[in-house]
Order: sequence, then C-alpha cells, then structure tokens
Amino acid sequence: MLKTGAEHLESLKDGRTVFIGKEKVDDVTSHPAFINAAKTVATLYDAKHEPEYRDILSYEEDNERYSMWFLKAKTRDDLRKRTSAHKRIADLSCGLFGRSPDHVASFVTGMSTNPSIFDSGDHKFSKNLISYYEHMRKNDIFATYAVLPPQAARNPDFYEKQNLPVPTLRVIREEDDGVVISGMKMLATSAVFCNEIWVGNLLPLAPSQVKEAITCAMPCNAKGLSLWMRQPISLNADNEFDSPLTWKFDETDVLVICEEVKIPWDKIFVLDDAILAREIYIKTPGHCYGNHQANVRYWSKMQLILGLCSKITQSTGADQIPAVREVIGKMSAQEATLSAMIHGQIEAAENWPENYLTYNRRMMYAALDWCTDKYSGIIDELRTLCGGGVFQMPASVNVMHDEKLRENFEKYFQTPQMEALDRMKLMRLAWDFVGSEFAGRQQQYEKFYAGASFIIRNHSHRETDWNFFNGIVDDFMNEYDVPDIK
Ligand SMILES: Cc1cc2nc3c(=O)[nH]c(=O)nc-3n(C[C@H](O)[C@H](O)[C@H](O)COP(=O)(O)OP(=O)(O)OC[C@H]3O[C@@H](n4cnc5c(N)ncnc54)[C@H](O)[C@@H]3O)c2cc1C
Repeated sequence: MLKTGAEHLESLKDGRTVFIGKEKVDDVTSHPAFINAAKTVATLYDAKHEPEYRDILSYEEDNERYSMWFLKAKTRDDLRKRTSAHKRIADLSCGLFGRSPDHVASFVTGMSTNPSIFDSGDHKFSKNLISYYEHMRKNDIFATYAVLPPQAARNPDFYEKQNLPVPTLRVIREEDDGVVISGMKMLATSAVFCNEIWVGNLLPLAPSQVKEAITCAMPCNAKGLSLWMRQPISLNADNEFDSPLTWKFDETDVLVICEEVKIPWDKIFVLDDAILAREIYIKTPGHCYGNHQANVRYWSKMQLILGLCSKITQSTGADQIPAVREVIGKMSAQEATLSAMIHGQIEAAENWPENYLTYNRRMMYAALDWCTDKYSGIIDELRTLCGGGVFQMPASVNVMHDEKLRENFEKYFQTPQMEALDRMKLMRLAWDFVGSEFAGRQQQYEKFYAGASFIIRNHSHRETDWNFFNGIVDDFMNEYDVPDIK
C-alpha cells in the first residue's frame, strides 16, 4: 500500500513523547517547530501518487504497489530504478533531507537480500528480518535509525566504577514476550516524522559488550521511549522568502532515550552478539544500499549549489571574469565527478549476494568519502562567490509592504543584471546554504552522517583487494633483478 502524505501525517499522531527542552509536544504535525518540515515529508509521500512519478517512485509485484526503495535488485536495470527513485525524492527535498523515507528502508531492503547472516549467531533471527522488511514495504513505513552510542560514553568502566547506570542503550532483562531496553542512542534524524526507529550498532563493539549489541525496531510511540529534540532551527524563520531552506527543510535530530522499553521477540534482529551487531550492515548489502541513497541525495544538493554559484556570479556580473569562470568550472567538474561516481557504481555492479546484484561497494565508499571530505570546501566556494552581497540586503522582505521603503529598495538595490527583489531572493537562498543556523547544521550533517571520516575510510580499506594492488607492484618488480655489474 502506498500511503498518501495526509495518511502519513495522521499516522504520526500516535501519542509519541517528544520534548523540546521542557516542553512536551502534543502533535508533531502542527507544532510550529515541525509543521513545515512535516508538510515536506507529506509531499514525498504524495509524489508517489502523481502519474508523472508513479513508475519512478514505485513498482508493482503480485498486484500490489510498493515504494521503489523496497525493490531487491537482480539486474542493472533494477539498480537504475532504485537510483532514479532516490534522485526524485532528493530533488523534491533539494538533497536537504538526509534521512528521507528511502534511507533506512534501503538498509533493510539490502539486508533482506542476504538474511542468512541473521542466523549466524546463537539466535535465528532471519525470519524476523524478512517479516520486518515485508511489514515496512506493505505499510510504506518511514523509519530512521539510531545506531551510535552517545558521544564519550563508549567506555563503560567510568560508569561501572562509580555505580552509575551506563548511559548507552542496552538490554536490561529478558522476559517471556521480549526484552526490555534502557539507555540512550545518538542521534535519530527525522525520528519525529517517522513511524519507527531501527536501533543498532554501526560502530564496532568490544566482544564483551553483549548487552549493548541489541538490534531491534521500535515504534516511535513505544511506552518508555522519549525523543529529545535539539534546538529547532525552523523557529528562526519568519517566512519562506527570507529563509527558504530553514522554513521547510529542518529534518530534525533527536536523542533517543529509552526507559524500560519492551521489544517483542519478533522485532529483534541481533541479541547478545557484539560482532554480528556490526556485521549485519557490511556482510549484507544494507550499508551499500543505504549509502548509495546518501550519494544520490548529495548529488541533488550539489546540483542546486552549482546552479546557485552560477546565478550568484550572474547577479554580480562576475560571471564575465575569467578567474571566476574557472572557479565555477571547477565546481561543475565536481558535480560531474559525483554523477560519474554514482553511475559507475551501477556499471561496475557486483554479483553479490547470491542471485542479486549490488552497487559497487568500493565506488560507493569512495563517493561517500568524497562527499564528506568536499562539503566544507564546496560551501566555502559559494560563500566566496557571494561576497558581502548577502548582508547588503534589508533585514526582511517586509520592506515590500511599505510604499516608500519599497520604492527606494527597488530603485537602489537593482543592478544592471537583476531586479532588486530577485537579487534579494537569491541572496537569501545563498545565505541559507552558507551562513544561517540551518547551513551550520547541514555542514555538521555532511561531516558526520555516515560516521567521522576515519570510519568511512576504514570501510574503503576493508573493501579493497590489497592482494590485487600489491600484486601489481610485485609483478612489476619481478621483471628485473640484481644486475650483472662487472
Ligand atoms: C546532524 C547529525 C545527524 C546525525 N544523524 C544520525 C542518525 O540519524 N542516526 C545515527 O545513528 N547517528 C546520527 N548521527 C551521529 C553520527 O553518526 C555521529 O555523529 C558520528 O558517527 C560521529 O560520532 P560522534 O559524534 O560521537 O563523534 P566522535 O566519534 O566523538 O568524533 C569526534 C571527533 O573526534 C575524531 N575522532 C574520534 N575518535 C577518533 C579516532 N579513533 N581516530 C581519529 N579521529 C577520531 C573524529 O574524527 C571527530 O572529528 C548524526 C550526527 C549529526 C551531526
């Protein structure tokens, strides 16, 4: 079943516990901190019902339609279909929603192509994973994940020595109908707009950290679960014109706090196995499917930034200067590089796991590393191109509602290249990319959404066939030996 936007928003009115500071939010779909981003989420659901996008965003199986991100790829064409769907969703949110509904769903879909890994520990949970995948696709579930322990709480010794509860989420007891978990996980982006949260461990655990190794899914209104929102950014925006991104794209980030939350057995995927808790992501295509979505999402953002760089130089007339053309030529090359890295993952797809085809993992991690590494530099180029123009504009677009101010604004702020109001609109958009609080959160997100850079590079290291590269060197050196020097 493909949900509509209205149906999805209705499903969020489920009594979930969300705090903004000490305020408890009654309804995330109508609270001023969330209302506009909630509407954006609804547009992502509605797009699937538009005739133009229906076949891009969904597929049919056994007379039932499902979101395209639940497609298990067997051919390059299937991979292309998945990529096109991610691109369409990312275009609708300008690449500014990292955890759009196709992100965690892709993790689960990738895992479902190799479920036997969930049977390799003491417990046999492959059936749970498959039925969770079916539940997600049948009910068009929007899930996010919280797969990191809270910062600086990764060493239990400090807490245990002082008889303090270890803050990291863990199993505190087993009962007949499931396990009970308590503790914190950072961070769950978009959780306030989601139906469910996947809890797990993407960072390696020590083999002894068995109680933290729980991997499970819980509804956002689970009893004992509370979502602590960081400072809402959208409240800084008076109107869409002055803060066009802040206005509707604050996807939100919450800290997940569980106080004795019951997880029924059928929603548990890993239990008491610290090694398996991490391996489920990398021994299945889960991490690859999910982070391919992240690559594509970034590409949409990059396209908007490149367009902005071009328009900003047009608005100042700098586009005629050869040195400036070189700068935006370099930006264009970067956008094309990312596009090529995304398409290459399909061209060089891997026959893995058995009976399925998966995006090329090394290329996916290369793109992920590239995206993380480049973002600050890309934004800084845009910042440089803006010059002081962003601060030359009046404080608010409401100058247009005062006849005298409007007349002066339109007269003095126009340039040979652009009308005053168009210039202001462009500069406001640019500022929301480079300087607003929203821009700052985006920068932090791009640095850390897939883990710190050393973690991403470790993935690249793991996926590299070092024998191949060492062999090239060996083969070359085998061509010659100690010379006969007389
Ligand atoms: C905006 C935002 C949204 C997020 N959304 C989600 C989400 O939806 N789900 C989720 O599970 N998580 C999410 N996260 C969490 C994210 O995965 C973590 O922030 C990330 O893994 C980094 O962990 P950390 O913040 O604890 O930083 P740390 O691991 O404490 O690292 C902080 C700094 O120290 C350096 N450092 C630490 N250890 C080492 C080391 N061994 N070697 C070299 N350098 C080191 C890092 O490079 C980094 O610069 C989000 C984070 C942000 C900022």
